[in-house]
Amino acid sequence: MNLSHSKIFNQIIMSDVKERTLVLIKPDAIQRGLMGEIISRFEKKGLKLVGCKMMELEEALLREHYAHIADKPFFGGLAKFMQSTPVVAMCWEGLEVVNAVRLLCGITKAREAEAGSIRGDLAMSVACNVVHASDSIENAEAEVSRFFKEDDLHSYDKSEYMHVYAEDERG
Ligand code: UDP
Ligand code: MG
Repeated sequence: MNLSHSKIFNQIIMSDVKERTLVLIKPDAIQRGLMGEIISRFEKKGLKLVGCKMMELEEALLREHYAHIADKPFFGGLAKFMQSTPVVAMCWEGLEVVNAVRLLCGITKAREAEAGSIRGDLAMSVACNVVHASDSIENAEAEVSRFFKEDDLHSYDKSEYMHVYAEDERG
């Protein structure tokens, strides 16, 4: 394979690693100056950032996002917390990235989250647990399109993919 063929081949296979997930950096992390640390965890893992914006969570968006817990007694307090500052919404892309990001984040109750995970290392609370991450492929697709217009999601080749994934994982 000559150089130009190999370049085209690599561009095609790198663009096949397509699963996407939604991450929110929550207000406690914004207040505590943890944005850079959290983004850095995902970058160091080898994930590709394809969308990023700071935004205030409107009531309707918040209710839709947390529909599965909207009837819980803690929802009022959680809503107030989530609206106390803007959040940073990010879309990360990678191979089986939904599961990988959940593992990086750790369990909901941060003081029991595994050491080494984002919540395990950076938080102590159940509500104030620094990040949100989509919990299934189906929910990730719904959440990414709830927070991002397709135009706000970017497509580019990340040169480090050559070193992050083995050849058969890129295809
Ligand atoms: N939460 C809370 N009290 C609870 C359970 C959840 O305040 O008893 C908050 C917490 O911020 C959590 C969010 O609600 O991250 C969404 O809950 P979920 O069960 O979906 O947890 P997650 O997927 O974020 O780990
Ligand atoms: Mg959840």
